[in-house]
Amino acid sequence: MLSAEIIAIGSELLTARFKDTNSLYLTEQLNEIGIPVVMKGIVGDDENYLEDAVRQSLARTPVLITIGGLGPTEDDVTRKVVARVLQRQLVLNDEILARLQRRFKSRGIEMPANNARQALVLTGSDILENNNGTAPGLWIRSEKNHVILLPGPASELKPMFEATCVPRLRELSGTGALARCVFRTAGLPESLLDARIAPIYTKYKNPETTVLARPGQVEVRLTARGKNLEEAERLLKELADQIDQELDDFIFARSEQSMEEVVGMYLVMKNATISTAESCTGGLVAERLTDVPGSSRYFMSGVICYSNEAKMELAGIPPLLLEMQGAVSAEVARGLAEGVRARANTTLGVGVTGVAGPTGGSSEKPVGTVHIAVATSTKTEHRQFLFPGDRERIRWQASQAALDMVRRELMKM
Ligand code: ATP
Ligand code: MG
Repeated sequence: MLSAEIIAIGSELLTARFKDTNSLYLTEQLNEIGIPVVMKGIVGDDENYLEDAVRQSLARTPVLITIGGLGPTEDDVTRKVVARVLQRQLVLNDEILARLQRRFKSRGIEMPANNARQALVLTGSDILENNNGTAPGLWIRSEKNHVILLPGPASELKPMFEATCVPRLRELSGTGALARCVFRTAGLPESLLDARIAPIYTKYKNPETTVLARPGQVEVRLTARGKNLEEAERLLKELADQIDQELDDFIFARSEQSMEEVVGMYLVMKNATISTAESCTGGLVAERLTDVPGSSRYFMSGVICYSNEAKMELAGIPPLLLEMQGAVSAEVARGLAEGVRARANTTLGVGVTGVAGPTGGSSEKPVGTVHIAVATSTKTEHRQFLFPGDRERIRWQASQAALDMVRRELMKM
């Protein structure tokens, strides 16, 4: 099976300021075609290191894609190095030279002598036209390898790759195809989730399963390989259906949708509206809900009631309740949800109160204790959580749990 390596070239890519995003893009594209990326690297503008990297790659992997270093300056060494490794000559290509000259002329500038370098090609290479910049790409077929040289700027690399490389790679990869899917879940810690699905997915080498935990969210990703897309999708479905069934309503999305997008979708679908009264999350639930375009259709109002006074004033919590139960309590969470719902006249009301830390915890209510309530016209659901992590993480998980409770409420409506 065909596999690929990627080398990103440029000393700036080794620093924190520039990120090698092109290789991530290429990996996505190659996966789509059914060519797995087995290795990638970043090499500074250094001929010797680049030469080593290219040699090693060519010795073990059939396809090598390099990114960058095709420009007109002295430190753009990609062509030179690849020519050396493949023992090819660099020759001036008249057609490219003429095109470069035309490009500069059309902008009314004299072509700098340096730019002629970009018309140098390895003997026997195919030229990948660059409609968005000066440096063309090159595709060199050697005895054992395909070596593809692409320019660094993403605005040049992407259209070039899609127009000139994707069709050819598809043909080369022939029968290979990948099918994938994702399940995004909330409410099950990674270990518990894995305990439930490992007995299922460990029976399959293909599809491959990865479990990815993030704060408040665990993702299960499946990738199936097949001779063609049909086969890959059939293999995928067999396992995906079982995982889907096992995780059931812990799954909030079967795509890359965020929790707030899913909640927004349900709110629209159920023709429902929502309001929030938040203490420890400081408006994060409202912020996430309103992050979604079109949220004005269902989000009516959100209040941050941080102080006890605000809880009384903005959500109508009785002073006696605060005094007797404390601000972090089931009763206050319920009161916030019901109070804001009544005042904003919405289908749903959400109340969040808790201890985000790092201070303010007690043995009775340790840091991470969060009470969340979701009120409707007929009842109020309440849950108590104990979230691990620092302040930011606790707040995030609280917002995720609140949105998940809203999702579950909407699914019942
Ligand atoms: P040019 O003709 O523009 O010089 P080039 O092929 O020489 O093209 P580089 O000089 O290596 O490309 O890179 C040009 C710019 O493209 C970089 O400054 C950077 O912003 C961007 N770039 C390069 N490589 C990458 C990469 N791997 N991922 C994302 N951006 C990149
Ligand atoms: Mg350059």
